[in-house]
Amino acid sequence: PLPVLAIVGRPNVGKSTLVNRILGRREAVVEDKPGVTRDRVSYPAEWSGRRFTLVDTGGWEVDVAGIDKRVAEQAEVAIALADAVVFVVDATVGSTDTDEQVVRLLHRSGKPVVLCANKVDGPAAEADAAVLWSLGLGEPHPVSALHGRGTGDLLDAILDAL
Ligand code: GDP
Ligand code: MG
Repeated sequence: PLPVLAIVGRPNVGKSTLVNRILGRREAVVEDKPGVTRDRVSYPAEWSGRRFTLVDTGGWEVDVAGIDKRVAEQAEVAIALADAVVFVVDATVGSTDTDEQVVRLLHRSGKPVVLCANKVDGPAAEADAAVLWSLGLGEPHPVSALHGRGTGDLLDAILDAL
């Protein structure tokens, strides 16, 4: 069976945009509408000749009460099923309480984690990414999933983790 890579993070950080970028086509639903998407969706993916299964998470309503709990629950299931995890943080927002909760889950899991500092659309935002060293998950990889900036380096780190 192919190694499984799960993409986890809060709603709206750009997980589905990153999935589409890795797939090279727009297959994952960006700006998920409630009821339209499932909690986890798997896609066959490939980079540098290595094949793996990519799992996008999310698809819940952003504004409902208890969203922190939903994110943590979803992350926990996805982490358990994965061989490696990409944890996506919106670098322009920084780390939130919900992010900290997921970081604790990631540490506890012992699984390899690649930290993606997303929405670094230009060099001015690199400093926002560097702040995320504080999460204790290793090097934050500055990425713009939207424009493709940094995604090659991120994918190389992913292959090292898988
Ligand atoms: P998800 O909920 O984590 O799956 O996030 P989405 O992929 O649905 O993206 C949420 C919003 O963030 C959408 O409006 C995206 O276009 C936007 N977005 C995603 N990646 C980037 C990025 O690298 N830069 C910027 N500026 N916006 C992004
Ligand atoms: Mg999504």
